[in-house]
Parts: sequence; structure tokens; C-alpha cells
Amino acid sequence: MSRILIVEDEEAIAELEKDYLELSGFEVEIEGSGASGLSRALAEDFDLFILDLMLPEVDGYEICRQIRAEKNTPIIMVSAKKDDIDKIRGLGLGADDYMTKPFSPSELVARVKAHLSRYERLVSSAAAPANKIIEIRGLKIDVNARRVWVRDEEKFLTTKEFDLLAFLAGNPNKVFSKEELFREIWDMDAAGESTTVTVHIKKIREKIELNTAKPQYIETIWGVGYRFKI
Ligand code: CA
Repeated sequence: MSRILIVEDEEAIAELEKDYLELSGFEVEIEGSGASGLSRALAEDFDLFILDLMLPEVDGYEICRQIRAEKNTPIIMVSAKKDDIDKIRGLGLGADDYMTKPFSPSELVARVKAHLSRYERLVSSAAAPANKIIEIRGLKIDVNARRVWVRDEEKFLTTKEFDLLAFLAGNPNKVFSKEELFREIWDMDAAGESTTVTVHIKKIREKIELNTAKPQYIETIWGVGYRFKI
């Protein structure tokens, strides 16, 4: 369940927001002062913050700035004054959204949901394997770092050479035609461009194969295309 912290000194507004968000299945905490809101925001794990701008002790600007210095958690800032909203936008504090009071609770819930799902997508893509490494018979490809080693010696491939090698190695034992490879790597229609693929395969082999006449990694399937052998 997503946890939301509302920092709002107007109790009636805070309670209304809380009720609607809880009805939508969120767990909601309220802090009525800027200082307590800020310390909880930094100390605890919340999935989203709703910050009022004008607060006692520490205002919403400062809370937003301090959260952003440490966390990427979505922040929705609310203010009674349209002018203030324009001002905070201009400051580039890193808030994800701004709402002017009074707003409809259902609008708030819709925005909360949108920001939470966007943030979940962001986090799950960042949590993908940090370093995808393909290692086979002395060839090592670090897909994220875009580096290649052959028997511990680093080899330097051009961007397209690397893309082509990483694609083939990432889809091993599958035969691709030159046209398919061209479309995949160059992202263009393949008409008449199969020689580009041939030339790049030749260059890759010169860099990674011991004997280019007997390639052990990228195999030529005559009349069809290429295959990365494992
Ligand atoms: Ca206020």
C-alpha cells in the first residue's frame, strides 16, 4: 500500500484530503507544521508528499528543496494563491505537480495515482539489472557500460559495431538476415544496405576473433545471415 504524507496546517483541508485518499486505498499521515513534516519526510519512507506552501516554522518551498536534495519521491505542492504556484514553478524546486486550493478531492486523487504510477515505472526501470554482462568463451560484453573484452583485453568498438554485437550476443543461436540486422541497428529500411551489415560484421570479427577465417562467435549462415553461437 502506498504511504502518503500530507503537510498541511489547515486541519479541515488535511482531513478532507486524507479521507479521499484513504477511500482510494492509500495510507495517509498528516503533519500540521513544516518542521515536523520536514523531519518525517526525511526520516521515513513515504511514496508521495503533498505539501502546502504556507506553513508555520518551515514553509513548503524549503521542505520541497530539502526532500529533493535526498529523494526522488513525487511531490505535489498546493497553495491557496495562484501567484504562488507560478512562483514555485519558476523556482524549479523539483516538485512534480502544483494545485491551487480549493481543488476537488477527486482531482487530487487522480493526480496522486498518476504520479505514483509514473514513479513506480521509473523505479522499476532503474532496478533492472545494473550491469548486464554477457560472457562466453573469453568474450565479455558489458551491455550497460558498452565495453568489450577478449581474454581480458579491452577492445574498442564503434557505436554501431557495439550495438550489432550486443544485439546478436543478446539473442544467441538465432539467425538474423542482414536486412533484419540493418533494420534493428540502424533503425531504417534495409533496401540495399546489407553491405553495411557485412562491413560491420567484418570489423567486429577483426576485433574479437582470434582467426577471422574461422569465427567462433559470429557465424555466417550462407545465404541467410548471421548467428551468435553459444
Ligand atoms: Ca497553509
